Amino acid sequence: MPDVSFDCVSCGACCFSRNPRYLELLPWDAGRSLPETGLFTEDGRTFVRFDCGHCIHLDLSNGKAACSIYEDRPEACRAFRAGSFEWAKARRANGVMGASLLNH
Ligand code: SF4
Repeated sequence: MPDVSFDCVSCGACCFSRNPRYLELLPWDAGRSLPETGLFTEDGRTFVRFDCGHCIHLDLSNGKAACSIYEDRPEACRAFRAGSFEWAKARRANGVMGASLLNH
């Protein structure tokens, strides 16, 4: 069971990858207001752009890792539960926000 004290807005666990096709839009994303400039289509599939190893919507200023389109973030991002095993693994792999949160 995830720890609800984790703040998804400053998490960043699901936002890092060097794979340009890491984050694909799903049918549930059809009604979301995602900026066109942050998307690309390949082989009939639409992806969110990643640059320099992370999603272009990830705001890393002020020592945070915040989603700048949080209210409209894609379904795949919503499915990544803060505090889950996968969350901890991703944060450890990405080195996001140091290791202190992983010791909870
Ligand atoms: S859309 Fe937001 S939550 Fe999803 S990968 Fe990009 S920055 Fe992270």
